[in-house]
Amino acid sequence: MKPLHHYYRVLLNELHFKRNYNYYMQSQFFDKKKLQSIQTDKLKHILYQAVHHVPYYHHLKSKIDFNKFSQNELNKFPVVDKELIRNNLDMFISDKINKKYSQWSHTSGSSGKPFHFILPFYSDSFENIMSARAWSMGLNYQYKPNDPIISLRSYAPKQGEPLLRRRKNIWYLSAFDINENNLEFYQKTIQESGAKIIRGYASSIYIFSLLLKEKQVHLDTIKTVVTSSESFLPKYREAIEEHWGFKVLDWYGQNERSVTVQQCSFGNYHNNDEYGIVELDENSQILATSLNNDVMPLIRYATSDIAIKLEHNIGACECKRGLSIPFKGIDGRSDDILLKDDSTKIPTANIYTAMQVFEKIKQFKITQNTDKSLRIELVEHSPIIQSELDEIRVALSYRVGDLPMTFQIVPEIIRSQKTGKIKAIESFIK
Ligand SMILES: [Zn+2]
Repeated sequence: MKPLHHYYRVLLNELHFKRNYNYYMQSQFFDKKKLQSIQTDKLKHILYQAVHHVPYYHHLKSKIDFNKFSQNELNKFPVVDKELIRNNLDMFISDKINKKYSQWSHTSGSSGKPFHFILPFYSDSFENIMSARAWSMGLNYQYKPNDPIISLRSYAPKQGEPLLRRRKNIWYLSAFDINENNLEFYQKTIQESGAKIIRGYASSIYIFSLLLKEKQVHLDTIKTVVTSSESFLPKYREAIEEHWGFKVLDWYGQNERSVTVQQCSFGNYHNNDEYGIVELDENSQILATSLNNDVMPLIRYATSDIAIKLEHNIGACECKRGLSIPFKGIDGRSDDILLKDDSTKIPTANIYTAMQVFEKIKQFKITQNTDKSLRIELVEHSPIIQSELDEIRVALSYRVGDLPMTFQIVPEIIRSQKTGKIKAIESFIK
């Protein structure tokens, strides 16, 4: 049973969605000047709240010009990253809010290290509006709230549980059982749902598209494919678009909900300008400023996600949206795909979800050997006991099946010498 304030927030967020959805469906087509002025007003509010109510930013109070405010004032703020916020959490939280009743969330991130943060009261509504808007950007079909939708994302049925779970208009199909034996069931479900849209992790959609292609199955009722949460490897995109015959709409965001960016049907990545501001640093890392979070403002927040720079500025997009185009694509994280015991491919984002719930894990790395066995290295926050290791083993086996696993507690996960990145998931099966 969740506390009462949770249901209160859910209810008010639903009302907020109903009240604001139409406006945001229109505002995406506002001209650039109008969108920029909306953005400037929202930024002014966030920065004002930050310097007056967030301890870390107090020292900037006298330096920010709120009278002649422009977006340039943002440059006076330092770039902040997860490590800094994690180590000084209270300094980043507004003195106006009650932490106990706030909506806390966290992410395990691609480095496998958890990061905790507070979301603003209407975060769920904004997120749902932005998602609905993103899903409506297809050429031959425009998603509307409550339309049926197939999700090939994070549903991981336990032993004996069905491959399908329905919640409201969403039909969740297991992303862990995309194989020949289940193809007929997946096909039947998609038909029955009446959905014209499939959403999933880039890798799960990729795996599904490969299977459909191999079996020469065409699902003509599907008009929009939306991918998210993982780096979109060029080989994924090629295979997916070749099979479906239309452009995939890729979506970028983070659990921190600082900025969200999505592709329209003409292939351009549009920033949701009313939601956040995107900057790129000298390494093309995405620096995000949330325009909705005034309780734990994320200002010039280093996301660790790497964008692909635009070769030239794109003036107006054929889709006629005024939303800006901040980059060409996401270079993202290049994690490998794990194979299940029966050789079904498992989307990596699902492994992150599984590991996220174990609070004692500071960082992890999962390596799959050529015989499919897994080596799991864990860095501890506090000592992990045997029974907890067993729980982690069970959580992973829901996803990868019955594979031999060895666990090792290590002081740190070694970064790649070549890229400096930590690959949280790596496979030696080529
Ligand atoms: Zn466009």
